[in-house]
Amino acid sequence: MTRTYVITGSASGIGAATAAILRDRGERVIGIDLRDADIEADLSTPEGRADAAARAMELAETIDAVIACAGISAPIPKTISVNYFGVTELLTALLPALARSQAPRAAVVSSMASLQPNSPDMVEAALAGDEPKALEIAAALAAQGPQVGYLVYPSSKRALSRWVRRESITPAWAGAGIPLNAVAPGTVVTPMTAGLLSTPEGQAMVDAAVPMPLNDHQSPESIAYLLIWLTSVENTHLAGQVIYDDGGADATLRGDDIWSWADSR
Ligand code: NAD
Repeated sequence: MTRTYVITGSASGIGAATAAILRDRGERVIGIDLRDADIEADLSTPEGRADAAARAMELAETIDAVIACAGISAPIPKTISVNYFGVTELLTALLPALARSQAPRAAVVSSMASLQPNSPDMVEAALAGDEPKALEIAAALAAQGPQVGYLVYPSSKRALSRWVRRESITPAWAGAGIPLNAVAPGTVVTPMTAGLLSTPEGQAMVDAAVPMPLNDHQSPESIAYLLIWLTSVENTHLAGQVIYDDGGADATLRGDDIWSWADSR
């Protein structure tokens, strides 16, 4: 049976690859993006998110899956709005349409950058749903230049990964039979990384931060296929996971023991 997918960031990179594969398979895709999409909307604002959700639910009463790919990596305050609130508020707004599906699913794109240094205050403000405060903290960091401003990106992804774990097990998601998970890519060759990867210096910087012993930089399709499985009927029990689909970057950086959380209890 044909499934209806809502995909954000459908005009480029990972979102475009995911939409193309699903359309090839005969599935229905409703793309959301700033332009070149079924729904043109700006997910950086509360109004834009509400508008996008309302229009998606006008186009489809029942939504079988939401795949949230839209994101930016610029060292500017807007990054927390698009990457965190643009995902969490949209997903929450679409819950009624997901609930009408026989097999509802949701997956978001976080990043291995969620493992990098970040602003704990911004992460907490985001998780508390306080967008004005998160933006204020982001603005103060961005004012110190791009190096400090970059902290907005890992903060947005750390908050998103934590939101997925926290929300996935609640009555709204697990209780409603909706698996909610995240994928954390390494370095994906898309317009987002094209500039950085175009010079040897940029490439060396990226590779030092994101070591990928397996198969080097990855294609958008390498993430798309995992997002598609996570939101397929076959995924019945995988919930609250942040899957590092990153050529081994997470294992390289965090090592072999990430399970010691209960050892001292
Ligand atoms: P991309 O730039 O190719 O695509 C991102 C899409 O999001 C674009 O089409 C853009 O128009 C859309 N978008 C941006 N701001 C928006 C807004 N305000 N409202 C609506 N749409 C908006 O980038 P990509 O590499 O495909 O990135 C997709 C996701 O993957 C992002 O969340 C990114 O953070 C994440 N990610 C990317 C990499 C990488 O190496 N490329 C690594 C880890 C995580």
